[in-house]
Amino acid sequence: CGIVGYIGYREAYPIVIKGLKRLEYRGYDSAGIMLYDGKDIKISKTKGKVSDLEEKSEAIASSKATIGMGHTRWATHGVPNDVNSHPHASNSGDLVIIHNGIIENYEPLKKELQKRGYTFTSDTDTEVLVNLIEDVQKKENIKLGKAVQVALNQVVGAYAICVFDKKKPDEIVVARLGSPLAIGVGENEFFIASDASPFIEYTSNAIYLEDEEMAIVRLAKPLKIRKIKDDSLVDPYIQELQM
Ligand code: GLU
Repeated sequence: CGIVGYIGYREAYPIVIKGLKRLEYRGYDSAGIMLYDGKDIKISKTKGKVSDLEEKSEAIASSKATIGMGHTRWATHGVPNDVNSHPHASNSGDLVIIHNGIIENYEPLKKELQKRGYTFTSDTDTEVLVNLIEDVQKKENIKLGKAVQVALNQVVGAYAICVFDKKKPDEIVVARLGSPLAIGVGENEFFIASDASPFIEYTSNAIYLEDEEMAIVRLAKPLKIRKIKDDSLVDPYIQELQM
């Protein structure tokens, strides 16, 4: 399984697709992509290979989107099929998540959300997480980064996640616990991936998140890394990759 993200000035689609291909060695049963072109969120996903995803994504491939997130899924909750593939959107449609890992306590969280009126289209633990984030955001009227943090502190499990919010489209919020997540730091662009292979051709500067860390990857802002549990700031350690 793998994740890829891009936010910057280049066309996101080819970067994300090529990145997913480089992560194929990690194993997967489904693949998906989200693109944001400044107006609309476009999602395409399918059971099968990244090449199947490409075939299915022709309609959105030419989009000039400069924000994108891609996922290869190794199913843990819900069979491998198109609906259970990632990305998953929240009930409002504003939030989109990709997730590697497992949310172990997704059942009680899902029941609670259902009581509050949330509905679910997939059988995944991941769709519970994205709606939990939305619920926190609405209840507490807080920004995406804070809402992700509050939600993750209610979650038991493992994750590498990227979350996008259409209401705040200049950033991608990322977090890690137990699944790898690297951030490639370019000039006016950021890359996110399970390892550096999807972005090594674009930048040699990488930050590897440690467990229990999160970051708001925002254009034109220095990257801030925080501990999910106590909100303390962590000095970003930028590693120079050997090209
Ligand atoms: N638990 C999630 C699912 O089954 C993510 C699996 C993965 O790591 O790809 O959809």
